[in-house]
Amino acid sequence: MSKVRIYELAKTLGIESKELMLILDEMGVEYKSHASSLDDETADAVKQLVLEDSQNEPEEKSSVKTEPKTKAKGSAESAIKDIPLRAPVVSVMGHVDHGKTSLLDYIRKAKVASGEAGGITQHIGAYQTNTSHGKITFIDTPGHEAFTSIRQRGANATDIAIIVVAADDSIMPQTREAIAHAKAANIPIIVAINKIDLPQANPNKVKQDLMQVELIPEDFGGETIVVPLSAMTGKGIDDLLEMLALVAEMEDLRADPNKAAKAIIVESVRDKQAGILVTAIIQEGTLKIGDYIVSGESWAKIRALISPDGSRIKDAGPSFPVQIMGFSSQPSAGDLIEAIASEKEAKQIVEERIATREQEELANKVQKTITLEDLFGQTNTITVNLILRADTQGSLEAIKGVLAKEAEAAKDVDLNIMLAAVGAPSESDLLLAGTGDAHVLAFGVNPSGAVKKEAKRLNIPLKSYKIIYKLIEDVQRLIRGQSEPEYEEKVIGHAEIRQVIRVPRTGNIAGSYITNGIIKRGAKARLMRKGKEVYKGSIAQLRRFKDDVRELGTGFECGINLDNYDAFKEGDIIEAFELVEIPLS
Ligand code: GDP
Repeated sequence: MSKVRIYELAKTLGIESKELMLILDEMGVEYKSHASSLDDETADAVKQLVLEDSQNEPEEKSSVKTEPKTKAKGSAESAIKDIPLRAPVVSVMGHVDHGKTSLLDYIRKAKVASGEAGGITQHIGAYQTNTSHGKITFIDTPGHEAFTSIRQRGANATDIAIIVVAADDSIMPQTREAIAHAKAANIPIIVAINKIDLPQANPNKVKQDLMQVELIPEDFGGETIVVPLSAMTGKGIDDLLEMLALVAEMEDLRADPNKAAKAIIVESVRDKQAGILVTAIIQEGTLKIGDYIVSGESWAKIRALISPDGSRIKDAGPSFPVQIMGFSSQPSAGDLIEAIASEKEAKQIVEERIATREQEELANKVQKTITLEDLFGQTNTITVNLILRADTQGSLEAIKGVLAKEAEAAKDVDLNIMLAAVGAPSESDLLLAGTGDAHVLAFGVNPSGAVKKEAKRLNIPLKSYKIIYKLIEDVQRLIRGQSEPEYEEKVIGHAEIRQVIRVPRTGNIAGSYITNGIIKRGAKARLMRKGKEVYKGSIAQLRRFKDDVRELGTGFECGINLDNYDAFKEGDIIEAFELVEIPLS
Protein backbone atom coordinates (compact mmCIF):
# COMPACT_ATOMS: atom_id res chain seq x y z
CA MET A 1 0.00 0.00 0.00
CA SER A 2 1.45 3.32 -1.01
CA LYS A 3 1.57 6.05 1.56
CA VAL A 4 1.67 9.76 1.08
CA ARG A 5 2.95 12.36 3.49
CA ILE A 6 0.82 15.26 4.55
CA TYR A 7 3.04 17.88 2.97
CA GLU A 8 3.30 15.88 -0.24
CA LEU A 9 -0.45 15.56 -0.51
CA ALA A 10 -0.85 19.26 0.26
CA LYS A 11 1.51 20.07 -2.58
CA THR A 12 -0.45 17.87 -4.97
CA LEU A 13 -3.70 19.50 -3.95
CA GLY A 14 -2.23 23.00 -4.17
CA ILE A 15 -3.00 23.90 -0.58
CA GLU A 16 -0.78 24.59 2.42
CA SER A 17 0.14 21.69 4.68
CA LYS A 18 -1.47 23.51 7.58
CA GLU A 19 -4.79 23.71 5.81
CA LEU A 20 -4.60 20.03 5.10
CA MET A 21 -3.90 19.39 8.77
CA LEU A 22 -6.98 21.38 9.72
CA ILE A 23 -9.05 19.23 7.41
CA LEU A 24 -7.54 16.12 9.01
CA ASP A 25 -8.39 17.53 12.45
CA GLU A 26 -11.98 17.83 11.37
CA MET A 27 -11.99 14.33 10.02
CA GLY A 28 -10.63 13.11 13.32
CA VAL A 29 -7.51 11.71 11.72
CA GLU A 30 -4.55 11.50 14.04
CA TYR A 31 -1.08 12.53 12.91
CA LYS A 32 2.11 13.70 14.51
CA SER A 33 3.39 16.31 12.11
CA HIS A 34 3.26 17.51 8.56
CA ALA A 35 5.63 14.68 7.72
CA SER A 36 3.23 11.98 8.92
CA SER A 37 2.04 9.50 6.34
CA LEU A 38 -1.59 9.00 5.40
CA ASP A 39 -3.04 5.76 4.15
CA ASP A 40 -4.72 5.63 0.73
CA GLU A 41 -8.18 5.72 2.15
CA THR A 42 -7.61 8.90 4.16
CA ALA A 43 -5.76 10.54 1.29
CA ASP A 44 -8.66 9.81 -1.05
CA ALA A 45 -11.18 11.15 1.44
CA VAL A 46 -9.17 14.35 1.82
CA LYS A 47 -8.89 14.76 -1.95
CA GLN A 48 -12.61 14.31 -2.24
CA LEU A 49 -13.29 16.93 0.40
CA VAL A 50 -10.96 19.50 -1.09
CA LEU A 51 -12.40 18.87 -4.52
CA GLU A 52 -15.97 19.27 -3.29
CA ASP A 53 -15.02 22.40 -1.46
CA SER A 54 -13.57 24.05 -4.50
CA GLN A 55 -16.59 23.00 -6.61
CA ASN A 56 -19.21 24.13 -4.13
CA GLU A 57 -17.61 27.42 -3.37
CA PRO A 58 -15.72 28.41 -6.44
CA GLU A 59 -15.62 32.03 -5.34
CA GLU A 60 -14.32 31.16 -1.95
CA LYS A 61 -11.56 28.82 -2.72
CA SER A 62 -9.72 30.47 0.11
CA SER A 63 -12.28 29.43 2.68
CA VAL A 64 -10.37 26.26 3.31
CA LYS A 65 -7.26 28.32 3.56
CA THR A 66 -7.98 31.11 5.91
CA GLU A 67 -11.14 30.09 7.68
CA PRO A 68 -10.89 26.58 8.83
CA LYS A 69 -14.20 25.05 9.70
CA THR A 70 -13.05 24.53 13.23
CA LYS A 71 -15.20 26.57 15.54
CA ALA A 72 -13.35 28.59 18.10
CA LYS A 73 -10.29 29.02 15.95
CA GLY A 74 -12.01 31.25 13.38
CA SER A 75 -11.72 34.76 14.73
CA ALA A 76 -8.58 34.26 16.77
CA GLU A 77 -6.91 32.77 13.76
CA SER A 78 -7.77 35.63 11.48
CA ALA A 79 -6.51 38.09 14.08
CA ILE A 80 -3.24 36.18 14.19
CA LYS A 81 -3.11 36.19 10.39
CA ASP A 82 -2.92 39.97 10.47
CA ILE A 83 0.47 39.70 12.10
CA PRO A 84 3.03 39.31 9.34
CA LEU A 85 5.20 36.25 8.92
CA ARG A 86 8.84 36.57 9.86
CA ALA A 87 11.94 34.78 8.60
CA PRO A 88 12.89 31.61 10.50
CA VAL A 89 15.96 31.79 12.72
CA VAL A 90 18.08 28.73 12.13
CA SER A 91 21.04 27.23 14.02
CA VAL A 92 23.41 24.88 12.28
CA MET A 93 25.04 22.39 14.61
CA GLY A 94 27.00 19.18 14.40
CA HIS A 95 30.28 17.44 15.00
CA VAL A 96 33.48 19.28 14.19
CA ASP A 97 34.56 18.95 10.54
CA HIS A 98 31.20 17.62 9.43
CA GLY A 99 30.76 20.74 7.33
CA LYS A 100 28.74 23.37 9.23
CA THR A 101 30.89 26.25 8.03
CA SER A 102 31.02 24.94 4.47
CA LEU A 103 27.23 24.60 4.38
CA LEU A 104 26.65 28.12 5.68
CA ASP A 105 29.28 29.46 3.30
CA TYR A 106 27.68 27.75 0.34
CA ILE A 107 24.25 29.12 1.10
CA ARG A 108 25.69 32.58 1.63
CA LYS A 109 27.99 32.61 -1.39
CA ALA A 110 25.35 31.24 -3.69
CA LYS A 111 23.41 34.37 -2.92
CA VAL A 112 26.36 36.71 -3.27
CA ALA A 113 27.17 35.05 -6.58
CA SER A 114 23.60 35.42 -7.74
CA GLY A 115 23.86 39.15 -7.32
CA GLU A 116 22.74 39.93 -3.77
CA ALA A 117 24.25 43.26 -2.89
CA GLY A 118 27.29 43.31 -0.70
CA GLY A 119 27.84 39.99 0.98
CA ILE A 120 29.12 39.51 4.45
CA THR A 121 31.97 41.78 5.29
CA GLN A 122 32.25 41.07 8.96
CA HIS A 123 31.40 38.40 11.43
CA ILE A 124 28.70 39.43 13.86
CA GLY A 125 27.44 36.01 14.93
CA ALA A 126 24.33 35.96 12.78
CA TYR A 127 23.16 37.02 9.36
CA GLN A 128 20.15 36.94 7.14
CA THR A 129 20.18 35.65 3.62
CA ASN A 130 17.70 35.68 0.80
CA THR A 131 17.24 32.20 -0.60
CA SER A 132 15.16 30.85 -3.42
CA HIS A 133 12.73 29.89 -0.67
CA GLY A 134 12.58 33.16 1.22
CA LYS A 135 14.66 34.91 3.83
CA ILE A 136 16.42 32.91 6.50
CA THR A 137 18.35 34.16 9.52
CA PHE A 138 21.26 31.96 10.48
CA ILE A 139 22.86 32.04 13.89
CA ASP A 140 26.55 31.57 13.34
CA THR A 141 27.94 31.46 16.88
CA PRO A 142 30.39 28.74 17.73
CA GLY A 143 29.20 26.10 20.17
CA HIS A 144 25.75 25.74 21.60
CA GLU A 145 26.25 28.17 24.41
CA ALA A 146 24.18 31.00 23.03
CA PHE A 147 21.64 28.51 21.85
CA THR A 148 21.07 26.95 25.26
CA SER A 149 21.56 29.80 27.65
CA ILE A 150 19.05 31.90 25.80
CA ARG A 151 16.48 29.23 26.33
CA GLN A 152 17.25 29.12 30.03
CA ARG A 153 15.98 32.63 30.21
CA GLY A 154 12.66 31.51 28.85
CA ALA A 155 12.97 32.29 25.17
CA ASN A 156 14.18 30.36 22.17
CA ALA A 157 16.48 32.30 19.91
CA THR A 158 16.38 29.51 17.38
CA ASP A 159 13.27 28.34 15.55
CA ILE A 160 14.77 25.41 13.67
CA ALA A 161 17.94 23.36 14.15
CA ILE A 162 19.90 21.89 11.28
CA ILE A 163 22.05 19.01 12.44
CA VAL A 164 24.88 18.41 10.01
CA VAL A 165 26.15 14.83 9.84
CA ALA A 166 29.00 13.86 7.51
CA ALA A 167 28.03 10.90 5.35
CA ASP A 168 31.46 9.31 5.76
CA ASP A 169 31.56 9.63 9.53
CA SER A 170 27.96 9.33 10.70
CA ILE A 171 26.89 10.22 14.23
CA MET A 172 29.71 11.39 16.47
CA PRO A 173 29.78 12.65 20.08
CA GLN A 174 29.10 16.28 19.20
CA THR A 175 26.27 15.21 16.92
CA ARG A 176 24.62 13.59 19.92
CA GLU A 177 25.18 16.71 21.97
CA ALA A 178 23.70 18.93 19.29
CA ILE A 179 20.66 16.69 19.02
CA ALA A 180 20.23 16.72 22.80
CA HIS A 181 20.33 20.52 22.81
CA ALA A 182 17.81 20.82 20.00
CA LYS A 183 15.52 18.29 21.66
CA ALA A 184 15.76 20.11 24.97
CA ALA A 185 14.83 23.32 23.17
CA ASN A 186 11.87 21.51 21.70
CA ILE A 187 12.41 22.89 18.24
CA PRO A 188 12.09 21.10 14.91
CA ILE A 189 15.21 19.32 13.71
CA ILE A 190 16.27 18.88 10.10
CA VAL A 191 19.17 16.52 9.51
CA ALA A 192 21.54 17.48 6.71
CA ILE A 193 23.64 14.50 5.61
CA ASN A 194 26.66 16.27 4.19
CA LYS A 195 29.56 15.17 1.99
CA ILE A 196 27.52 12.83 -0.19
CA ASP A 197 29.99 13.60 -2.98
CA LEU A 198 32.65 11.50 -1.26
CA PRO A 199 33.08 7.98 -2.63
CA GLN A 200 33.02 6.55 0.90
CA ALA A 201 29.81 8.42 1.73
CA ASN A 202 27.16 6.19 3.25
CA PRO A 203 23.98 8.21 3.77
CA ASN A 204 22.01 5.06 4.51
CA LYS A 205 24.19 4.24 7.47
CA VAL A 206 23.62 7.75 8.82
CA LYS A 207 19.88 7.25 8.49
CA GLN A 208 20.11 3.97 10.36
CA ASP A 209 22.30 5.51 13.05
CA LEU A 210 19.78 8.31 13.49
CA MET A 211 17.33 5.74 14.80
CA GLN A 212 19.62 5.21 17.80
CA VAL A 213 19.16 8.81 18.79
CA GLU A 214 15.44 8.59 18.31
CA LEU A 215 15.30 10.56 15.12
CA ILE A 216 13.47 8.30 12.72
CA PRO A 217 13.97 9.42 9.12
CA GLU A 218 10.92 9.78 6.91
CA ASP A 219 12.24 6.98 4.67
CA PHE A 220 11.96 4.65 7.63
CA GLY A 221 8.45 5.71 8.46
CA GLY A 222 9.40 8.41 10.97
CA GLU A 223 8.94 12.14 11.12
CA THR A 224 12.49 13.41 10.84
CA ILE A 225 13.28 15.29 7.67
CA VAL A 226 16.64 14.16 6.35
CA VAL A 227 18.28 15.91 3.41
CA PRO A 228 21.36 14.39 1.77
CA LEU A 229 23.58 17.12 0.35
CA SER A 230 27.06 18.28 -0.45
CA ALA A 231 28.34 21.60 0.75
CA MET A 232 31.11 21.14 -1.77
CA THR A 233 29.15 20.64 -4.98
CA GLY A 234 25.93 22.27 -3.79
CA LYS A 235 23.86 19.19 -4.57
CA GLY A 236 20.80 18.96 -2.33
CA ILE A 237 21.19 22.42 -0.80
CA ASP A 238 18.10 23.71 -2.56
CA ASP A 239 16.19 20.76 -1.09
CA LEU A 240 17.41 21.77 2.35
CA LEU A 241 16.23 25.35 1.84
CA GLU A 242 12.89 24.07 0.61
CA MET A 243 12.52 21.90 3.70
CA LEU A 244 13.47 24.84 5.92
CA ALA A 245 10.77 26.91 4.27
CA LEU A 246 8.29 24.09 4.73
CA VAL A 247 9.05 23.66 8.41
CA ALA A 248 8.97 27.43 8.88
CA GLU A 249 5.55 27.50 7.27
CA MET A 250 4.35 24.79 9.63
CA GLU A 251 5.70 26.68 12.62
CA ASP A 252 3.74 29.71 11.46
CA LEU A 253 6.35 32.17 12.66
CA ARG A 254 4.87 35.61 13.03
CA ALA A 255 5.91 38.84 14.70
CA ASP A 256 4.38 42.29 14.89
CA PRO A 257 6.88 44.92 13.68
CA ASN A 258 4.85 47.67 15.36
CA LYS A 259 5.05 46.45 18.94
CA ALA A 260 7.63 47.58 21.48
CA ALA A 261 10.83 45.91 20.36
CA LYS A 262 12.27 42.76 21.91
CA ALA A 263 15.48 41.09 20.81
CA ILE A 264 17.78 38.29 21.93
CA ILE A 265 21.52 38.76 22.24
CA VAL A 266 23.53 36.11 20.40
CA GLU A 267 26.94 37.70 20.78
CA SER A 268 28.37 40.35 23.04
CA VAL A 269 31.97 41.48 22.64
CA ARG A 270 34.14 44.37 23.76
CA ASP A 271 36.12 45.84 20.91
CA LYS A 272 39.16 47.98 21.67
CA GLN A 273 38.13 50.66 19.21
CA ALA A 274 34.39 50.35 18.86
CA GLY A 275 33.62 49.56 22.51
CA ILE A 276 30.77 47.24 23.40
CA LEU A 277 29.30 45.48 20.35
CA VAL A 278 26.15 43.48 20.80
CA THR A 279 24.58 41.30 18.12
CA ALA A 280 20.91 40.64 18.64
CA ILE A 281 18.10 39.07 16.68
CA ILE A 282 14.87 41.01 16.77
CA GLN A 283 12.01 38.93 18.12
CA GLU A 284 9.23 41.42 17.68
CA GLY A 285 8.80 45.11 17.09
CA THR A 286 11.40 47.30 15.42
CA LEU A 287 14.58 48.69 16.96
CA LYS A 288 15.56 52.19 15.87
CA ILE A 289 18.54 54.44 16.38
CA GLY A 290 17.95 56.58 19.44
CA ASP A 291 15.72 53.97 21.17
CA TYR A 292 16.31 53.31 24.85
CA ILE A 293 16.81 49.64 25.62
CA VAL A 294 17.61 47.49 28.63
CA SER A 295 19.20 44.07 28.76
CA GLY A 296 19.92 42.32 32.02
CA GLU A 297 21.70 44.89 34.12
CA SER A 298 22.79 47.06 31.17
CA TRP A 299 21.03 49.79 29.29
CA ALA A 300 21.69 51.76 26.12
CA LYS A 301 20.57 54.61 24.00
CA ILE A 302 21.12 53.07 20.58
CA ARG A 303 23.92 55.00 18.93
CA ALA A 304 24.24 52.91 15.80
CA LEU A 305 22.73 49.83 14.20
CA ILE A 306 24.89 47.79 11.86
CA SER A 307 23.63 45.08 9.54
CA PRO A 308 25.67 41.91 8.90
CA ASP A 309 26.94 43.33 5.61
CA GLY A 310 28.61 46.11 7.58
CA SER A 311 26.29 48.91 6.54
CA ARG A 312 24.72 51.29 9.01
CA ILE A 313 20.96 51.01 9.15
CA LYS A 314 18.27 53.13 10.79
CA ASP A 315 16.07 50.35 12.07
CA ALA A 316 15.76 46.58 12.28
CA GLY A 317 12.57 44.51 12.26
CA PRO A 318 11.59 40.92 13.23
CA SER A 319 14.13 38.13 12.71
CA PHE A 320 16.77 40.60 11.57
CA PRO A 321 20.23 40.21 13.10
CA VAL A 322 21.72 43.52 13.98
CA GLN A 323 24.74 44.86 15.78
CA ILE A 324 23.91 47.45 18.40
CA MET A 325 26.25 50.16 19.66
CA GLY A 326 25.64 52.29 22.70
CA PHE A 327 25.54 49.97 25.72
CA SER A 328 26.75 51.40 28.99
CA SER A 329 28.09 48.07 30.21
CA GLN A 330 28.44 44.69 28.56
CA PRO A 331 25.28 42.57 28.57
CA SER A 332 25.48 38.77 28.20
CA ALA A 333 24.76 36.55 25.25
CA GLY A 334 21.38 35.01 25.85
CA ASP A 335 19.93 38.08 27.52
CA LEU A 336 16.75 39.65 26.27
CA ILE A 337 16.75 43.24 25.04
CA GLU A 338 13.63 45.30 25.59
CA ALA A 339 12.81 48.74 24.29
CA ILE A 340 11.88 51.22 27.04
CA ALA A 341 10.11 54.54 26.69
CA SER A 342 12.69 56.81 28.31
CA GLU A 343 16.20 57.00 29.69
CA LYS A 344 14.83 57.51 33.16
CA GLU A 345 12.78 54.33 33.01
CA ALA A 346 15.64 52.34 31.49
CA LYS A 347 17.97 53.37 34.31
CA GLN A 348 15.32 52.63 36.92
CA ILE A 349 14.74 49.11 35.58
CA VAL A 350 18.45 48.37 35.66
CA GLU A 351 18.76 49.65 39.23
CA GLU A 352 15.84 47.50 40.34
CA ARG A 353 17.34 44.43 38.69
CA ILE A 354 20.65 44.95 40.43
CA ALA A 355 18.90 45.35 43.78
CA THR A 356 16.80 42.20 43.23
CA ARG A 357 19.86 40.18 42.29
CA GLU A 358 21.74 41.31 45.36
CA GLN A 359 18.82 40.35 47.57
CA GLU A 360 18.53 36.95 45.91
CA GLU A 361 22.23 36.31 46.32
CA LEU A 362 21.90 36.98 50.00
CA ALA A 363 18.88 34.72 50.30
CA ASN A 364 20.64 31.96 48.35
CA LYS A 365 23.48 31.93 50.78
CA VAL A 366 21.23 30.72 53.53
CA GLN A 367 18.77 28.70 51.51
CA LYS A 368 19.67 25.15 50.74
CA THR A 369 19.03 23.90 47.22
CA ILE A 370 15.81 22.12 46.47
CA THR A 371 16.29 18.42 46.81
CA LEU A 372 14.51 15.70 45.03
CA GLU A 373 12.70 14.91 48.23
CA ASP A 374 11.26 18.40 48.12
CA LEU A 375 10.12 17.72 44.61
CA PHE A 376 8.54 14.46 45.65
CA GLY A 377 6.49 16.34 48.13
CA GLN A 378 5.11 18.54 45.39
CA THR A 379 4.23 16.26 42.53
CA ASN A 380 3.12 12.74 41.89
CA THR A 381 5.18 11.94 38.86
CA ILE A 382 8.54 13.50 38.60
CA THR A 383 11.12 13.43 35.91
CA VAL A 384 14.68 12.71 36.83
CA ASN A 385 16.81 14.30 34.14
CA LEU A 386 20.26 12.92 33.57
CA ILE A 387 23.25 13.79 31.48
CA LEU A 388 25.52 10.80 31.14
CA ARG A 389 29.16 10.94 30.20
CA ALA A 390 31.46 7.96 29.83
CA ASP A 391 34.87 6.96 28.58
CA THR A 392 33.61 4.70 25.82
CA GLN A 393 30.45 4.06 23.86
CA GLY A 394 30.50 0.55 25.33
CA SER A 395 30.25 1.73 28.92
CA LEU A 396 27.59 4.25 27.94
CA GLU A 397 25.47 1.52 26.40
CA ALA A 398 25.96 -0.65 29.46
CA ILE A 399 24.87 2.14 31.81
CA LYS A 400 21.92 3.05 29.63
CA GLY A 401 20.86 -0.57 29.51
CA VAL A 402 20.76 -0.94 33.28
CA LEU A 403 19.12 2.44 33.78
CA ALA A 404 16.40 1.60 31.27
CA LYS A 405 15.47 -1.37 33.45
CA GLU A 406 15.54 0.75 36.58
CA ALA A 407 13.30 3.31 34.92
CA GLU A 408 10.86 0.64 33.87
CA ALA A 409 10.60 -0.63 37.40
CA ALA A 410 10.07 2.82 38.88
CA LYS A 411 6.43 3.76 38.98
CA ASP A 412 6.06 7.46 39.48
CA VAL A 413 9.34 8.51 38.02
CA ASP A 414 10.28 9.30 34.47
CA LEU A 415 13.94 8.83 33.82
CA ASN A 416 14.96 11.14 31.03
CA ILE A 417 18.46 10.92 29.65
CA MET A 418 18.93 14.32 28.06
CA LEU A 419 22.32 13.42 26.71
CA ALA A 420 24.49 10.33 26.74
CA ALA A 421 27.85 10.97 25.18
CA VAL A 422 31.46 9.89 25.22
CA GLY A 423 33.96 12.33 26.75
CA ALA A 424 34.31 14.48 29.84
CA PRO A 425 31.40 16.66 31.01
CA SER A 426 31.64 20.08 29.36
CA GLU A 427 30.38 23.53 30.22
CA SER A 428 27.76 23.15 27.55
CA ASP A 429 26.51 20.05 29.41
CA LEU A 430 26.00 22.28 32.43
CA LEU A 431 23.92 24.68 30.40
CA LEU A 432 21.87 21.80 29.13
CA ALA A 433 21.55 20.43 32.67
CA GLY A 434 20.37 23.81 33.86
CA THR A 435 17.42 23.70 31.50
CA GLY A 436 16.08 20.56 33.10
CA ASP A 437 17.48 20.45 36.63
CA ALA A 438 19.53 17.52 35.44
CA HIS A 439 22.23 15.61 37.27
CA VAL A 440 25.46 15.24 35.33
CA LEU A 441 26.99 11.82 35.97
CA ALA A 442 30.29 10.81 34.47
CA PHE A 443 31.81 7.36 34.35
CA GLY A 444 35.54 6.88 33.81
CA VAL A 445 36.02 10.49 32.75
CA ASN A 446 36.73 13.49 34.92
CA PRO A 447 35.41 17.00 34.42
CA SER A 448 38.02 19.73 34.25
CA GLY A 449 38.53 22.04 37.21
CA ALA A 450 36.77 24.83 35.33
CA VAL A 451 33.72 22.67 34.71
CA LYS A 452 33.60 21.59 38.37
CA LYS A 453 33.78 25.20 39.45
CA GLU A 454 31.07 26.24 37.05
CA ALA A 455 28.84 23.37 38.20
CA LYS A 456 29.21 24.56 41.75
CA ARG A 457 28.41 28.12 40.75
CA LEU A 458 25.32 27.04 38.82
CA ASN A 459 24.37 24.62 41.56
CA ILE A 460 24.28 21.67 39.18
CA PRO A 461 24.92 18.23 40.67
CA LEU A 462 28.01 16.82 38.95
CA LYS A 463 29.67 13.59 39.98
CA SER A 464 32.20 11.25 38.44
CA TYR A 465 32.49 7.55 39.13
CA LYS A 466 35.09 4.87 38.69
CA ILE A 467 32.68 2.01 39.25
CA ILE A 468 29.55 1.68 37.12
CA TYR A 469 27.69 0.06 39.96
CA LYS A 470 28.13 3.14 42.15
CA LEU A 471 26.69 5.34 39.42
CA ILE A 472 23.71 3.03 39.04
CA GLU A 473 23.25 3.02 42.81
CA ASP A 474 23.11 6.79 42.87
CA VAL A 475 20.57 6.86 40.08
CA GLN A 476 18.50 4.31 41.99
CA ARG A 477 18.59 6.68 44.93
CA LEU A 478 17.56 9.57 42.74
CA ILE A 479 14.71 7.52 41.41
CA ARG A 480 13.60 6.70 44.89
CA GLY A 481 14.02 10.30 45.79
CA GLN A 482 16.70 9.60 48.28
CA SER A 483 19.78 11.57 48.74
CA GLU A 484 23.06 9.98 49.78
CA PRO A 485 22.38 7.87 52.84
CA GLU A 486 23.80 9.45 55.92
CA TYR A 487 25.47 7.55 58.69
CA GLU A 488 26.11 8.33 62.29
CA GLU A 489 28.66 6.81 64.58
CA LYS A 490 27.50 4.70 67.49
CA VAL A 491 30.24 4.08 70.04
CA ILE A 492 30.12 0.48 71.31
CA GLY A 493 33.05 0.31 73.68
CA HIS A 494 36.47 1.47 74.92
CA ALA A 495 39.68 -0.36 75.66
CA GLU A 496 42.82 0.99 77.27
CA ILE A 497 46.18 -0.12 75.92
CA ARG A 498 48.29 -1.38 78.83
CA GLN A 499 51.10 -3.07 77.00
CA VAL A 500 52.51 -2.96 73.48
CA ILE A 501 53.33 -6.52 72.51
CA ARG A 502 55.96 -6.62 69.80
CA VAL A 503 55.57 -9.48 67.36
CA PRO A 504 58.16 -9.78 64.60
CA ARG A 505 56.74 -9.80 61.07
CA THR A 506 53.08 -9.40 61.94
CA GLY A 507 53.52 -6.05 63.73
CA ASN A 508 52.58 -4.86 67.20
CA ILE A 509 49.58 -6.04 69.15
CA ALA A 510 47.87 -3.79 71.65
CA GLY A 511 47.54 -5.61 74.96
CA SER A 512 44.37 -3.95 76.21
CA TYR A 513 41.78 -3.89 78.95
CA ILE A 514 38.16 -3.27 78.01
CA THR A 515 36.97 -0.48 80.26
CA ASN A 516 33.39 -0.37 79.03
CA GLY A 517 31.02 -1.69 76.36
CA ILE A 518 32.22 -4.29 73.93
CA ILE A 519 35.03 -4.58 71.43
CA LYS A 520 34.23 -6.42 68.21
CA ARG A 521 36.38 -7.76 65.46
CA GLY A 522 35.68 -5.75 62.28
CA ALA A 523 34.19 -2.82 64.18
CA LYS A 524 35.31 0.69 63.25
CA ALA A 525 37.84 2.11 65.65
CA ARG A 526 39.77 5.22 66.46
CA LEU A 527 42.86 5.52 68.55
CA MET A 528 42.90 8.37 71.07
CA ARG A 529 46.11 9.68 72.56
CA LYS A 530 45.82 12.33 75.25
CA GLY A 531 42.34 13.13 74.01
CA LYS A 532 43.37 13.45 70.37
CA GLU A 533 42.49 11.10 67.53
CA VAL A 534 45.68 9.67 66.02
CA TYR A 535 44.13 6.90 63.92
CA LYS A 536 40.79 6.00 62.41
CA GLY A 537 40.17 2.64 60.84
CA SER A 538 38.95 -0.70 62.06
CA ILE A 539 39.76 -3.58 64.35
CA ALA A 540 41.49 -6.27 62.32
CA GLN A 541 41.87 -8.91 64.97
CA LEU A 542 40.79 -9.55 68.53
CA ARG A 543 42.51 -12.14 70.70
CA ARG A 544 41.91 -13.68 74.09
CA PHE A 545 45.14 -15.46 75.05
CA LYS A 546 46.05 -17.38 71.92
CA ASP A 547 42.54 -17.55 70.47
CA ASP A 548 40.87 -15.34 67.91
CA VAL A 549 37.53 -14.15 69.21
CA ARG A 550 34.69 -12.24 67.69
CA GLU A 551 33.85 -9.95 70.57
CA LEU A 552 34.61 -9.33 74.24
CA GLY A 553 32.88 -7.30 76.95
CA THR A 554 33.84 -5.00 79.83
CA GLY A 555 36.52 -6.23 82.22
CA PHE A 556 38.32 -8.53 79.78
CA GLU A 557 41.94 -8.35 78.84
CA CYS A 558 42.65 -8.89 75.16
CA GLY A 559 45.03 -8.36 72.27
CA ILE A 560 43.89 -5.98 69.55
CA ASN A 561 45.27 -5.62 66.03
CA LEU A 562 44.30 -2.48 64.20
CA ASP A 563 44.00 -2.36 60.44
CA ASN A 564 47.11 -0.76 58.93
CA TYR A 565 48.39 0.75 62.17
CA ASP A 566 50.59 -0.45 64.98
CA ALA A 567 52.39 2.62 66.33
CA PHE A 568 50.26 2.68 69.47
CA LYS A 569 51.61 3.47 72.92
CA GLU A 570 50.71 2.47 76.43
CA GLY A 571 47.90 4.60 77.74
CA ASP A 572 46.24 5.05 74.32
CA ILE A 573 42.50 4.46 74.21
CA ILE A 574 40.83 2.41 71.49
CA GLU A 575 37.29 3.54 70.87
CA ALA A 576 35.20 1.03 68.95
CA PHE A 577 32.15 2.22 67.03
CA GLU A 578 29.70 1.19 64.33
CA LEU A 579 28.18 3.22 61.48
CA VAL A 580 24.43 3.28 61.64
CA GLU A 581 22.42 4.50 58.64
CA ILE A 582 20.19 7.40 59.61
CA PRO A 583 16.76 6.50 58.35
CA LEU A 584 15.14 9.04 56.04
CA SER A 585 12.37 10.86 57.78
P1 GDP B 1 32.83 22.37 10.49
O1 GDP B 1 33.93 22.12 11.46
O2 GDP B 1 31.62 21.52 10.79
O3 GDP B 1 32.48 23.81 10.30
O4 GDP B 1 33.35 21.80 9.08
P2 GDP B 1 33.94 22.60 7.83
O5 GDP B 1 32.87 23.28 7.08
O6 GDP B 1 35.11 23.39 8.27
O7 GDP B 1 34.41 21.37 6.95
C1 GDP B 1 35.40 20.46 7.37
C2 GDP B 1 36.11 19.87 6.18
O8 GDP B 1 35.22 19.12 5.38
C3 GDP B 1 36.70 20.93 5.25
O9 GDP B 1 37.94 20.48 4.80
C4 GDP B 1 35.71 21.02 4.11
O10 GDP B 1 36.31 21.41 2.91
C5 GDP B 1 35.20 19.60 4.04
N1 GDP B 1 33.83 19.53 3.54
C6 GDP B 1 32.76 20.22 4.00
N2 GDP B 1 31.66 19.90 3.30
C7 GDP B 1 32.03 18.98 2.37
C8 GDP B 1 31.35 18.25 1.35
O11 GDP B 1 30.15 18.35 1.13
N3 GDP B 1 32.10 17.37 0.62
C9 GDP B 1 33.44 17.21 0.81
N4 GDP B 1 34.07 16.33 0.05
N5 GDP B 1 34.10 17.87 1.77
C10 GDP B 1 33.44 18.75 2.53
